[in-house]
Amino acid sequence: MDYEKLLDNVYRNLPERKKSGERFECPLADVMPQGNKEYIKNFDAICAALRRTPEELSKYLSRELASPVAVEGPRLVINSKVMPRIVNEKIQEYCNASVICRECGKPDTHLESTGDRGFKVLVCEACGARQPVKK
Ligand SMILES: [Zn+2]
Repeated sequence: MDYEKLLDNVYRNLPERKKSGERFECPLADVMPQGNKEYIKNFDAICAALRRTPEELSKYLSRELASPVAVEGPRLVINSKVMPRIVNEKIQEYCNASVICRECGKPDTHLESTGDRGFKVLVCEACGARQPVKK
């Protein structure tokens, strides 16, 4: 038996990686066009998954998409034509910048105002890390 095959067998017999190391998956927005607007049908579910208020997330999207938005029940109305792909990219960016802890990769975080020109810190409830955020 050659060495490579031997290694192969060793790796195959290693126990599976622990589930706790799994990365948090940012939820996908269900975007539906209607006339000159776009509706995010599952906006409330996205906010709940990210543990952010609809106000926080809608303000961010309005700025990033350069478009007025309005929260309408569980939905978010975007008052312009935006590609669903772009909406999801922006939500993904928000997730990476302002939700997921850069130390431990968990989404169990909240934002705290520092009172310093509107700067905020991302506080991780899982590992206690505090990180400045830009968005
Ligand atoms: Zn953490």
